[in-house]
Amino acid sequence: RPRVFSGMQPTADSLHLGNYLGALRQWVALQDDHDAFYCVVDLHAITAGHDPDDLRRRTRAVAAQYLAAGVDPERSTLFVQSHAPEHAQLAWVLGCITGFGEASRMTQFKDKAARQGTEGATVGLFTYPVLQAADILLYQADLVPVGEDQRQHIELTRDLGGRFNSRFGEVFRLPQPHIARATAKILDLQDPTAKMSKSIGGAGLVELLDDPKRIEKRIKSAVTDTGRDVLYDPEGKPGVSNLMTILAAFTGTTVERVQDDFAGRGYGDLKKAVAEAVLATAVPLAERQRALLEDPAELDRLLARGAEKARAVAAGTLAAVYDRVGFVPAR
Ligand code: ATP
Ligand code: MG
Repeated sequence: RPRVFSGMQPTADSLHLGNYLGALRQWVALQDDHDAFYCVVDLHAITAGHDPDDLRRRTRAVAAQYLAAGVDPERSTLFVQSHAPEHAQLAWVLGCITGFGEASRMTQFKDKAARQGTEGATVGLFTYPVLQAADILLYQADLVPVGEDQRQHIELTRDLGGRFNSRFGEVFRLPQPHIARATAKILDLQDPTAKMSKSIGGAGLVELLDDPKRIEKRIKSAVTDTGRDVLYDPEGKPGVSNLMTILAAFTGTTVERVQDDFAGRGYGDLKKAVAEAVLATAVPLAERQRALLEDPAELDRLLARGAEKARAVAAGTLAAVYDRVGFVPAR
């Protein structure tokens, strides 16, 4: 069975619409016919400043989120990145074959660094994509289900894996991004030129585990475009088109069908339908997640078991890498 690897950062108390539609929902679907590794990437979550208590709480919350959405720990390997030290170890080696200029071209780094200012941006934020490449390559993943924003990082992962293979001998399988076309980039509801994002936050962000009233309010105050017809036109009507994308995704239909359904109706009706569709998924998801968090010991046991399964694979890859690089064995 083909391998899948993906992860999410524990940098918020809830996943947002983009994380769910662009990533988590795909993960759940893929576990049927793939050997899947789903990780809570806590090492990535400390690259932009964090609070230790928040990180601890959010790491468990994200794991519970995966389970609540349908990740099945019997079929998939669910674990926390820092429980497998191989991630940081491989990242060091990959960092030593990554060009400084190559890393400097990563648009996520440029965007996030611009938001933090040169003094605020850390070396960890700069080498984030190298750690991500290590995450993926360690598990010999064939597919990486992510949003469009991660395409460049998967490309870098392929470049680094291929470079290592040709310089030191074949070790890594080179992964393909798996990007769901319809939901590759869910836009911010207040600024539909930007992707919805945890680190940007604001009123344009819809978090699925948030209070249902606030979810509804944020959807109803989404910026719409001039005109009054519900038409799918991502260039001319990005706000309305984004709402149509969200509605179609949650109701299992297409934007064309949504457009037909809303012929002769206005933006108010559309927003009402979006809020209903989102809440129909969000409310039960939040209930399941809350129930899982009531037994943190059980959750921790499950994560320990996941880490053991993950390390069994990761250690094999790392050992081959260390050997190829020329490190003398420890004993
Ligand atoms: P941050 O802004 O801090 O990077 P994020 O919102 O991008 O947070 P991540 O944890 O970095 O969240 O990403 C988790 C997954 O969600 C990734 O696969 C990413 O591509 C996907 N994703 C994030 N935002 C969107 C979006 N707006 N639309 C579709 N997919 C998204
Ligand atoms: Mg991100």
